[in-house]
Amino acid sequence: MPLYDYKCDACATRFEVDHPMSAPPVKECPHCGAQQVRKVLTTGGISVRTRNIGSSSSPPPSCATGGCGGGMCGL
Ligand SMILES: [Zn+2]
Repeated sequence: MPLYDYKCDACATRFEVDHPMSAPPVKECPHCGAQQVRKVLTTGGISVRTRNIGSSSSPPPSCATGGCGGGMCGL
């Protein structure tokens, strides 16, 4: 389930809500009840993780010389 960051303009509280994409966005601050809530863009934690998974399929260059030392390349 995707996690959304919200920020309340009234009390500056920042909170996270996980709800399905089909659900309507949160409009009311759970802290003060003001309807001045904005959705905040999260800074790509998911995309970074996806990139790491993709690059792990090919061993790093140091593996060719046996320098990885992590046992990840099987050499
Ligand atoms: Zn608030």
